Amino acid sequence: AGGRDESARVTPMMAQYIEIKAANPDCLLFYRMGDFYELFFTDAEIASRTLGIVLTKRGKHQGDDIPMCGVPVERADDYLQRLIAAGHRVAVCEQIEDPAEAKKRGPKSVVRRDVVRLVTPGTITEERLLEPGRASLLVAVARRKLGDASALYGIAAIDISTGRFSVMEAPQERLAIEFARLEPREIVCPDAIHDDPALQGFWRELGLPVTPLAREGLDAASAERRLREFFGVATLDAFGAFSRAEIAAAGAALAYVERTQFGARPPLSPPVRDTGSDTMLIDAATRANLELTRTLAGERGGSLLAAIDRTVTPGGARLLAERLAGPLTDPQAIAARHDAVAALVADGALREDLQAALARVPDIARALARLALDRGGPRDLAALGAGLTAARAIVAMLLDRAALPAELSKASRALSEIDPDLPARLDATLAEELPLNRRDGRFVREGHDPALDELRLLQVDSRKVIAQLQARYAAETGCRTLRIKHNAMLGYFVEVPQAVGEDFLKEPWRAIFVHRQTMSDAMRFSSVELGGLEAKIASAADRALKLELGIFAALSEAVLAQVEPIKRAAAALAEIDVAAGLAELAAREGWVRPLVDASEAFTIAGGRHPVVEAALKRDGKPFVANETDLSPPGDGAKGGRICLITGPNMAGKSTFLRQNALIAVLAQMGAFVPATSARIGIVDRLFSRVGAADDLARGRSTFMVEMVETAAILNQAGPRALVILDEIGRGTATFDGLSIAWAAIEHLHEVNRCRGLFATHYHELTALADRLERVSNATVRVTEWKGEVVFLHEVVPGAADRSYGIQVAKLAGLPPAVVERARTILGELEKSEREKPVASLVDDLPLFAAPQRRAAAPPVLPAEDPLRLALDGLDLDEMTPREALEALYRLKGLG
Ligand code: ADP
Repeated sequence: AGGRDESARVTPMMAQYIEIKAANPDCLLFYRMGDFYELFFTDAEIASRTLGIVLTKRGKHQGDDIPMCGVPVERADDYLQRLIAAGHRVAVCEQIEDPAEAKKRGPKSVVRRDVVRLVTPGTITEERLLEPGRASLLVAVARRKLGDASALYGIAAIDISTGRFSVMEAPQERLAIEFARLEPREIVCPDAIHDDPALQGFWRELGLPVTPLAREGLDAASAERRLREFFGVATLDAFGAFSRAEIAAAGAALAYVERTQFGARPPLSPPVRDTGSDTMLIDAATRANLELTRTLAGERGGSLLAAIDRTVTPGGARLLAERLAGPLTDPQAIAARHDAVAALVADGALREDLQAALARVPDIARALARLALDRGGPRDLAALGAGLTAARAIVAMLLDRAALPAELSKASRALSEIDPDLPARLDATLAEELPLNRRDGRFVREGHDPALDELRLLQVDSRKVIAQLQARYAAETGCRTLRIKHNAMLGYFVEVPQAVGEDFLKEPWRAIFVHRQTMSDAMRFSSVELGGLEAKIASAADRALKLELGIFAALSEAVLAQVEPIKRAAAALAEIDVAAGLAELAAREGWVRPLVDASEAFTIAGGRHPVVEAALKRDGKPFVANETDLSPPGDGAKGGRICLITGPNMAGKSTFLRQNALIAVLAQMGAFVPATSARIGIVDRLFSRVGAADDLARGRSTFMVEMVETAAILNQAGPRALVILDEIGRGTATFDGLSIAWAAIEHLHEVNRCRGLFATHYHELTALADRLERVSNATVRVTEWKGEVVFLHEVVPGAADRSYGIQVAKLAGLPPAVVERARTILGELEKSEREKPVASLVDDLPLFAAPQRRAAAPPVLPAEDPLRLALDGLDLDEMTPREALEALYRLKGLG
C-alpha cells in the first residue's frame, strides 16, 4: 500500500501547477522557476515541437514521468513571439513572493505563484513582439438583432500598445470590409456570434484568430458599467453618443483587455467613433490586388505603402498606414490634410528641420503604454525623455510661423502642452547606456544621487577597501603575511600562519579577532570591522538596486501623471511626421496636389504608377506618363465614363488601370499624387479585380471566384464608385467570357452608372463604344520594328488593331517552330472569324438580352493544316529513298 501511496502522491509544487493550469485551460502555461519559465505535460510537448527545444523530464506525476521543457526568462520574448505566431496563447505565471517568505512558512512550502498576464496575439506590448510601423489591434464584435432577421454589428478596436480605442457600427455585409481596413491581430466576440453557424465560413475565410468570450457580463448594460468604471465617469455621454451595439462591443473589448492584463491598466483613450463610415470602402480583394500595404506575396516592400513612406518615426509610419487603409470621403477633411502637405512642400527648409528633429523621436506611444502596464524598462523612460525633448524643439520651429495650416497649428498646440520639466528631469536622471530591464540596475546617471553613488563606490571599491584593511591589520599586528580572504562558508576572514594565530588567541588580539577555523598550517579569524564591511558590501548591491528602483518608480509616476498630454503629443508628432513625409515625397518625386471635390470628375494628366515607376527608375528606364478622363461629358451628373482598354499583353494595361486606382486612394488619404494635374470627384467605393486570379487554396475554381467577385461589384457599385476590371471573363471559354464581360459593362453603364476602367483582350467589346453613350475606347500603343514588337506604353484613344500576342510569345523565347506554327493557326482563325464576325453581335443583340450561346468554332484546324494534309498523303511503304527525300523537302517548304 505504501508504494501506491508514494506513486499517487502529488508534490506541493505540482499541486500548485495543476491548480493554476486548470484555471487557464486554453493557454500554454509559462510557470516561473528561478531563471526559467517551465512548461509541463502537453504544454511542454507543444512548446518543444513549436520552438524546437529539448523535451526532458522532471520528476513523476502519479507514477509517470512528467514531460518538461523550459525557456530562459531573459529570452522569453523570442519564444513568446514564435508561440503567438503559431496561434497559441500563453499564460505567464510568476513567483509573487520572495522565496525567503515561503521558507518562513515551513521548509516544504512552495513559493506563491499566480498568472500575471495572458499573452494573446491582440494584447501584446513588448517592443520586440510588435511591428513598429503597424498598429496591433484587438477587435471586439457585438451584435444587435433587428426585427427583420438582419443584424447590426458593433465593432470596437483597441490597440493596447498605444491606447487607441475606437468603435463603429456596421451591417453584416460591411464586416469583411472593416476587418480588411483594420487588419486586427485578434478578434473577440461573445460565443453566440463565434458559434453562429451562419458565420462559420466567414470566420474561416478571414484567417484570423477569433476568440470566443463567455457571454456573462457582455450585455449592453454591463458593458456600459464596465466602461464607466474604467474611465471613472458617471456617464458615457461625455465621450459622445454611441449605439447599443457599439457600447456592447466596446465593453467586450475592454473586458478582454482586463481579463488578459490582470489588473494592469493600459493607457486607453476613451472610445471615439471610428471614421469607418467616412472612408472609401475597399474590400480585401481590392486591397490585395492593388497591393496597398502588402504585395500579393505578402511583403511590405513593393507595396504602395513602402513606396510612399518617408516618415521617420514609428508613430508616423503607423499613422500613414492607417490613413492609406482608410482614405477619406469628405472633401473638406481631405483638403485640410493637403494644406498641411502643401505648406511643407513650399517650405523645404522647415520640412528638413522638422524631419531632422523627428528622426530623434522614438516610439513614445508604446513606451508610455509599457510604463502604464508596469512592464516598462529604463529605455522606455529614455524614449519619453528623447521624444518630449524633440517635441519641444519642434514647437520652437513652428512657433514663429505666420500662416500655419490648421492641422499643423493644432499639432503644435498639442506639443506645447508638454511640461518642459519632465523631459529635463528624465534626461538629467538617466545614464547614457541603459539596460533593457530595470532589475539590471545601473541606469541612473552618476552624480544624480549621492547615496547611490556611495553605494556604487562601495561595490566597485570593495577590493580596495579590503586591501586597505589588510594593510592596516598587517601593520598593527606586525604580521606581514596576514591576508584577508573570502570563501562561501566563512565569507571574509583574516588568515595568518599558525604561530601568529596562537598569538591572536591571547590578549590584546583576542579582543579584535575571533577564531573561526584552524588549518594545518594557518588559522582563520573574523573581526567586527571585517564583518561590518562584509555586510556593507553585500547589501550595497541590494541597496543600490532598491534606490534605483525607487528612482524608476518616481520617474514612471511623473510620466504617468501626464498620460493624456503625452498621448496627444505622440499623436501630434505622428501627424507632423506624416505631413512632412508626404511633402518630402511630393517634392522629390514631382507629385502634385490633387483637387478632390463633390463632382463625378476623374481627370488626370501625366499620371504615373508610383511603384512601377520606382522599379523602372532603379533600372534606369523612364516611365511613360498617361492621361485619364472618366469625367462625365459636360459636367452634368450623368455618371462618369467607362473606358475600355485593349492592347497586347505587356503593353502596360494593368499598370495603367492600377495607377488610376492608386491615384484616387492617394488623393483621398490626403497625399499628393504622381501626376501633373488631377481632379477627382469623391470616390466612395473602390473595386479592383483581375480575371483568372488563381484561388485554388480556397478550393474554388478560378472562374467561380471571378464571377463571385464580379457579382459583388455589379450588386454594390454606386454612382460614386470607381471600378477597375482587368481581363474579366478570361477564366472560361471564349464566348462565355466575352458574353459575361459584355453584359457586365452594359450593367455598369446602365445601372451602376459608375466610373470604370476595363482592360480586355476581347477586341469585340470595343464595338460597345459606338452603342453606349459613356463608353470610350483606348489602347496602349505598340509598333513593330524589324518584325519585333516595341511597346510604347502610351495610352491613346481608339482600339488596338491586332493583339501582337505571337510577337510577345517570340520575345519570351518560345521555340521558333512553335511561333511559326502559331502564326499559321492565327491566320486560319482570323479567316474563319471574318466569315462569322462576332462584332455583328452589336446589331443582333438588344441591350441586356441574354446573348445566345453560339456554337464554338468548329474544330477544323487539324484537318485544314496543309502540312498535316500533305503528311497524310504520303505512303511511305511505296516510296523510294529518293522520293522520300523529295517529299521531305516539300514538307519543309510547307512548314
Ligand atoms: P499588360 O497588363 O498590358 O500585360 P503590364 O501593365 O503588366 O502590361 O506592363 C508590363 C510591363 O511594362 C510592366 O512591368 C512595366 O515594366 C512596363 N510598363 C507598363 N506601363 C509602363 C509605362 N507607362 N511606362 C513604362 N513602362 C511601363
